[in-house]
Amino acid sequence: MAWCPFAKKLELQPESDAQAAIRPTQFIMHSIAAPWDEERIYEYWRDSTNLESHFGLDYDGSLGQFIGTQTRADANYRANLRPDGTGAVSIETASNLKHTDPWTPEQVETLIRLGVWLHEEHGIPLRICETASDPGYGYHRLFADWSTGGTECPGDARVAQFKTVVFPGIIARATGATPPKEDNVALTDDDIKKIGRQVVTGANGAKSPDDASVEWAVSSFLGLTYKTARTIAADVAAVKAKVETLSVGGVDLDALADKVADKLAARLAD
Ligand SMILES: [Zn+2]
Repeated sequence: MAWCPFAKKLELQPESDAQAAIRPTQFIMHSIAAPWDEERIYEYWRDSTNLESHFGLDYDGSLGQFIGTQTRADANYRANLRPDGTGAVSIETASNLKHTDPWTPEQVETLIRLGVWLHEEHGIPLRICETASDPGYGYHRLFADWSTGGTECPGDARVAQFKTVVFPGIIARATGATPPKEDNVALTDDDIKKIGRQVVTGANGAKSPDDASVEWAVSSFLGLTYKTARTIAADVAAVKAKVETLSVGGVDLDALADKVADKLAARLAD
């Protein structure tokens, strides 16, 4: 039973002792459609429902943990505990009543910190889940198997943050990539070429990503997030992680590297 060292322990009984063990392989993020702090989320699980998440996150970034991460929690339907013994770690996060608001900067910071801790503690791989049972990181509505009858959780603003800030932030911090110290560092054409090459060939290993997949990675990560040079380290790491999960194809890596560099240059010129 693992308890996160920077979470307030609010142990939920009898669930914490009674529910089955899991081997945690996924981290799934939710919005609770209520502006509650971690204490209030704990009371809700204790008094009002049989469901529960492992963690609860207040708007101010303070974190509560209700069940150890190697015990089943019941927020993700079929991902709670699979027949092979694996399961998902879940977090509910304070939101407005329709869960349409973005995570606060304090919530984003704690989500990144917790994501890194789960990677280090349980070896959850640094990628976005490709299927409902694929190890990695996700948000509740990503797969139908994670809810009974479908869910809108979390809202669009938080899904966008997951893709552009939270998940890239987890990768950057877990892999030790650090952003440049100064704001708005000017990149030379040579730098941009190097980044393009790093994204494609650095992630390639024995495999070759196909063209469409790299396009997708570039538009999903670089295209949406390159506001300043400060974020480059996180974004490059995110694209590399994405490319590493892609299927084999017969693609010219030099051409792909150039394509990534072109996209990046265009984005930085904006
Ligand atoms: Zn949810």
